Amino acid sequence: MSAQALVIAPREDPWEMALRQFNEAADYLPLKRGIHDYLALPKRELTVNFPVKMDDGSVSLFTGHRVHHNTVLGPTKGGIRYHPDVTLNEVRALAMWMTWKCAVVGLPYGGAKGGVAVDPKSLSRDELEHLTRRYATEISIMMSPEGDIPAPDVGTTPQVMAWIMDTYSMHRGYSTPSVVTGKPVEIGGSFGRVEATGRGVMLSVREAAKLISLPLSDATVVVQGYGNVGTVAAELLHELGCRIIAVSDSRGGIHNPKGLHPGEVLKHKQATGSVVGFPGSGRVTNAALLELPCDVLLPSAFEGQITGENAPRLKTKLIVEGANGPITPDADAVLAERRTPVIPDILANAGGVIVSYFEWVQGLQQFFWTEEEVNQNLERILVRAFHKVWQTAEEYKVRLRVGALIRAITRVADALYIRGIYP
Ligand code: NAD
Repeated sequence: MSAQALVIAPREDPWEMALRQFNEAADYLPLKRGIHDYLALPKRELTVNFPVKMDDGSVSLFTGHRVHHNTVLGPTKGGIRYHPDVTLNEVRALAMWMTWKCAVVGLPYGGAKGGVAVDPKSLSRDELEHLTRRYATEISIMMSPEGDIPAPDVGTTPQVMAWIMDTYSMHRGYSTPSVVTGKPVEIGGSFGRVEATGRGVMLSVREAAKLISLPLSDATVVVQGYGNVGTVAAELLHELGCRIIAVSDSRGGIHNPKGLHPGEVLKHKQATGSVVGFPGSGRVTNAALLELPCDVLLPSAFEGQITGENAPRLKTKLIVEGANGPITPDADAVLAERRTPVIPDILANAGGVIVSYFEWVQGLQQFFWTEEEVNQNLERILVRAFHKVWQTAEEYKVRLRVGALIRAITRVADALYIRGIYP
């Protein structure tokens, strides 16, 4: 199967998006055809259909996946998503993006991802625990501290990671904290992990703003997706003096041109289940929110939100991808033509996997760092990678996404050439 042949039509399927992005960057590199396809295609994929006993005594069947995209640089790393729309193609795309993300910031990991097609909000706590423990058991043939280390993603939490760690440890007969990251601090999690992705987004905004001469004091910011990534990014940018003028979640968006207080909005969401209805704010749809005039736009919810259709209507000076894959390749082309800089997901939201790496290292060594040490090391790694990507994009005269992919693919390909093809 050829990676090129898999791109059937320019639809907004995440896996096709990931392959189109890969093919565009790979065209700049002298990769042999077989190596090109080996880097594009997932190494191994597992789909599991499994039963869960529900609170009322009935049994429901769920479908989950775990995909290892590439293992050349080391064990695979990647989150687990619980969402009704999870598909194998989405998990494949997210796994491939993890390979490039780890490579571009210099971590010794390959890429993986997992997911279950479920709405976690529709389950009781007991049902969520049963589903998690059964899914963890089903994918345990793919998971280990040396081979594949999951982490949280959309719809999963530190508590879910704790259940996965406990399930794996029960099967092994001893505690194995390094089998997952994003755990609660009480059982070997790292300080700073919950905030790490949003912190990385803030650092990306800060570095990009310097390079495009955008003053951040009173800069207006719009955040789509007020979850883990979006809330932390909003709070840290607010601390830098930015004005958060609109945010949204799955139920809709809120807008206040004078600025929203991110912490108060979070309290409102925690109390009511949504940002909608926050006192003093007006309502805005998720679609309209993306088109609000602003200095910085942070798409931090899902894939495929900015497309060839709505990209021409965006009115922002800078886009930083908090989410994975929020901008389609067609939209990328429009934004490039309009000279709107886009800090790509594999760089902008890499803070999470960087601190997951720290958590894994701390767990293996049983030697734990302070929050200050975690944040300093995160900043050092992310800021260095940011400027290397910027330089590469200038050198090749390409968009930042292509520059980031060129660096990432080169790193994996170089390692592959050195390791050789077995046997
Ligand atoms: P989350 O579940 O904490 O938050 C997602 C948020 O998006 C929720 O507030 C949800 O209500 C909202 N949302 C759902 N559908 C929406 C829609 N149509 N429009 C607007 N908002 C919508 O998830 P998260 O961990 O913050 O992840 C968000 C994105 O960031 C995902 O693409 C994820 O893969 C990516 N990411 C997360 C991490 C991490 O460490 N959590 C790391 C890297 C990348």
